[in-house]
Amino acid sequence: MPSKVGLVYSDEYLKHDTGDHPENSKRLEAILSFLKGKNVLKDLTFINPRKADLKEIEYLHSSSYIQGVRELCKRGGGFLDPDTPVSKESFQVALLAAGGVFSAIDRIVDDLDSAFCLIRPPGHHALKKKGMGFCVFNNIALGARYAQNKHRLKKILILDWDVHHGNGTQEAFYRDPSVLYFSLHRYPHYPGTGDIEEIGEGEGRGYTVNVPLPPGCGDGDYIYIFKEILLPIMKDFKPGITLISAGFDAHADDPLGGMSLTSQGYGALTTLVRESSKGIVSCLEGGYNLKALRESVLAHLDSLGEFNLFPKERIDEEPNRGVKEIVKKVKGIHSKYTR
Ligand SMILES: [Zn+2]
Repeated sequence: MPSKVGLVYSDEYLKHDTGDHPENSKRLEAILSFLKGKNVLKDLTFINPRKADLKEIEYLHSSSYIQGVRELCKRGGGFLDPDTPVSKESFQVALLAAGGVFSAIDRIVDDLDSAFCLIRPPGHHALKKKGMGFCVFNNIALGARYAQNKHRLKKILILDWDVHHGNGTQEAFYRDPSVLYFSLHRYPHYPGTGDIEEIGEGEGRGYTVNVPLPPGCGDGDYIYIFKEILLPIMKDFKPGITLISAGFDAHADDPLGGMSLTSQGYGALTTLVRESSKGIVSCLEGGYNLKALRESVLAHLDSLGEFNLFPKERIDEEPNRGVKEIVKKVKGIHSKYTR
């Protein structure tokens, strides 16, 4: 039986107006119209997002930062950092982005197997006191806290396959063994963090896992990393829910990423994670080539729902030698930590 997949979406997400910027509302429109054209919306359970309230945003962000964003938007907008424009509506839209993740988590606890949050602004670069890298509030980190505070889920796994390191998410849980942060990303690259030696601090040591990669990595490399490192860690850690920072900017055609994943590759990665998870909430992060983005999202949803919309070709590319070396090194560093 196909598993039950939710889709969080609202036209309100289009109102975060970034002008002529790679992270713009056309991304969501392109995905949604493609899903409509492929006739998959009928297979998805629509989830109406709610707005996060300010107390919930304070699970992670300082009240002075939250008020600063609010004021800036009230004045008509501006920039949180040189990469991160906000418009008049952005504060409310950002509350709806984080709240959309909460709505999805509610439904996973209740009746669905997984949910994809088609939301913006993205979140994984947002720090406690600072928005950056197109991100305002850290949707996925807030989602992890919400799952713990509201639903008493004890252990959360955050998988971040966006091509950029999720510095905000790492910062949020660096000393916290209840949320395991696993990221694979191009390195060195924006935002500069995500070294192999960044593994957490204090009680959180071993609960941050960074797999820094050279440019050009493809399906075979990512699948190898999942099988060799991620899945064994998930088996040990046994998360109550898996949250995915689902950026699709490691796609071969992405203008910012420099990696070479295919949309089919994203489908294969999704299947591997689904088979090891109790429930999945994935959140859109990056992905800036509209054709690559919409096809990758379709492949992701197809694998989440086991819809078999298109035939699965086997991917049996060998990982490249450099990646095998990195995997060996990550395993070595993390071998002394049991989770
Ligand atoms: Zn990214």
